Amino acid sequence: MKEKTTQKANKIYLDYASATPVAADVALLVKDTLMKCYGNAGSLHKDGVTAKKIIDGAKRESAQALFAHPDEIIFTSGATESNNLAIRGTVLAFKNTQKFAHKKPHIIVSNIEHASVLEVCQALVKEKIADVTYISVDKEGIIDPKKIAEAIKPETVLISIMYANNEIGVIEPIKEIAKVIRHYRKDNAKKFPVFHTDGAQATNYLDMNVERLGVDLMTVSSGKIYGPKGVGLLYIRRKTPISAIIFGGGQENGLRSGTENTPLIAGFGLALKVARKISEKESIRLTKLRDWLIKELEKNFEGVIINGSKNFRLPNNINITLPKYESEELVLRLDAKGFSISAKSACDSGNNEESHVLSAIGKREDSKIGSLRITLGRNTSKKDLEKFLIALTNSLKVMLIA
Ligand code: PMP
Repeated sequence: MKEKTTQKANKIYLDYASATPVAADVALLVKDTLMKCYGNAGSLHKDGVTAKKIIDGAKRESAQALFAHPDEIIFTSGATESNNLAIRGTVLAFKNTQKFAHKKPHIIVSNIEHASVLEVCQALVKEKIADVTYISVDKEGIIDPKKIAEAIKPETVLISIMYANNEIGVIEPIKEIAKVIRHYRKDNAKKFPVFHTDGAQATNYLDMNVERLGVDLMTVSSGKIYGPKGVGLLYIRRKTPISAIIFGGGQENGLRSGTENTPLIAGFGLALKVARKISEKESIRLTKLRDWLIKELEKNFEGVIINGSKNFRLPNNINITLPKYESEELVLRLDAKGFSISAKSACDSGNNEESHVLSAIGKREDSKIGSLRITLGRNTSKKDLEKFLIALTNSLKVMLIA
């Protein structure tokens, strides 16, 4: 892809799921806004009005990209905050409804969600505010919508299932899950359960039309779509019950108090617009590169395991286990050669790097070895991947000797 980014020229960056470089025109817009638009969007004077116009413009752009209304977009500090708002905000809204005040809310999530979903759920259980059911995925990493239907109870307030997994890139059947929930709500003429999806990893590549998806809440992160880090959004469908979790000046329809970060919001709006514009073309290009790399890995590295579904997978994600080779050591050796990739261990050693996702798809037997995640993006070419394969081969040779 010819979109210019701020990526360093002498490195081959293959960790786009962790963070994307910032698109050059987005970086310029952020800088320009930072220098010129210092007014508070809540102020009455011209400086304030200018900031408000920029935020409103970014809101319109973001809404258009998701086929939503501008008043359904709440800017946050990123996917973590959006997920926190979605979960705690829904639980609070339920508790604030008088006829439900005496009931203990119940949440359904998958067992491969991002920590920013799982940790909130664990906190709510610890605080005795809510109960949680964890739906397990199959060996490919996919959720069966029937399992969700079976887990719904009268007091279920929220179902949160990620659109695409950040480690193994597996795509979940969001439209089918939405149908199950809509069907239940219609039968019961209820506002709950609300359906939330974490779309942080999906935004560059998958259908983000909230109408077609049938979601009530959706998380998007700027730092994964060639925008600045520290900004994101939560899409909130009109009439969805949700309460604030941050209180103050009442910005963002009272749902996210605090002076808006105009430069980051402006950059995010542009990044989202561009990401959606080139989504289809980029998905086709990266799917070809991904499949080529998977074939080469299978051909050249005996015993390589591809983690997660091959068919329902993000165009840019390759996640492998190389039995006999420790993934973290490999990451460091490849880094020394100028390649950035990610590693996760599946072991139960209690450190932060262990992968609940690998465990969930039954990869515990490879415990000490873990997995390598190679994620492609706008600057990735076939030449880069050829160089990567050579560097990988050379690193493995050295490891075998050592
Ligand atoms: N959800 C998913 C699926 C992610 O991949 C990430 C980032 N790794 C997050 C949430 C958290 O994003 P942020 O850093 O923008 O808060």
